[in-house]
Amino acid sequence: MKQLLEKLSNAPGVSGHEETVRDIIRAEIEPYVDHIEVDTMGNLIVTRDGDIDKPSIMLAAHLDEVGLIVRYIDNDGYVFFNPVGGLFDQTLLNQKMVVHTKNGKYFGVIGSKPPHVMKTAEYDKVIKKDDMFLDIGATSKKDAEKMGIEIGDQITFDSHFTVLHDDIVAGKAFDNRAGCVMLVETIKRMKDVKATVHAVFTVQEEVGLKGAKTSAYKLNPDFAFVTDVTIAGDHPGISMKEAPVKMGAGPAIIVSDGNGRGIIVPKIILDRIKNTADEYNIPIQLEASGGGTTDGAVIHLTRGGIPTGIVSIPTRYIHTPHSVINMKDLEASINLLIKMLESWI
Ligand SMILES: [Zn+2]
Repeated sequence: MKQLLEKLSNAPGVSGHEETVRDIIRAEIEPYVDHIEVDTMGNLIVTRDGDIDKPSIMLAAHLDEVGLIVRYIDNDGYVFFNPVGGLFDQTLLNQKMVVHTKNGKYFGVIGSKPPHVMKTAEYDKVIKKDDMFLDIGATSKKDAEKMGIEIGDQITFDSHFTVLHDDIVAGKAFDNRAGCVMLVETIKRMKDVKATVHAVFTVQEEVGLKGAKTSAYKLNPDFAFVTDVTIAGDHPGISMKEAPVKMGAGPAIIVSDGNGRGIIVPKIILDRIKNTADEYNIPIQLEASGGGTTDGAVIHLTRGGIPTGIVSIPTRYIHTPHSVINMKDLEASINLLIKMLESWI
């Protein structure tokens, strides 16, 4: 499982460029499912057939990650970029990046003015991403074009999966490759499930929950469960009062998110999750979140409404080159999902 997370975390997949991640998952999951398709949006939909009189359940995890795309190449060969998804300007400065072109990968660094020549006032100034550029080593626009760099190419952080200590691991894009691992492992390991299970690996979540919207409409499931990550409040600079879940204490079960504007999870789903966790002694943490939302926000509003639950991995430093999770939370989430799916007997 750790190896799969490593592979998926290291793979590039900025919104709209999910092919590489999708191919890895497809190869991994194909032997365990009855049907497999990639729809017109690019979602990967796999299905395990169940009994005809049992409900159909959609599981969803988004494939995409936040990153950058090429906006403009100047005459000196410097690359200017647009953000894709929510990125804090300060996390970009001086990062090593990878540009994925038709000719393969090129590395670049986001350049900045050296401190030696900064005026005193400049020290305290936050540098905006509009004032940043990527230095790819090209000497001119022509040179950059010869390398194969085109407008719209995706740019990802050049960061690599690392074990920090025991079960604590670091890497880019755990949002939401952690959720992808959860679904792959659930499908692989589940045995006594009578319901029909569709696992959907969705595209373009970070830019508007797009793949979830079309796939939920198409599948029209009876229930849905979304897997994602959520903010851990257990490190310096944040308090548990602001983000009351911590790493290592089990998955966060979302009660509501976006202060209710994203989703308010129905009681019938929450009770089922709580009862399952209770029965099998799986640790969970309830979370009423004020911040962002997930694919669940659009899935539950599909057609006549779909009862939807959300299982999230408490994650530190989301939307940066290095997020951190505890593998134990991932393991507990998979157990929980499997036991939940088995509960429709
Ligand atoms: Zn996410």
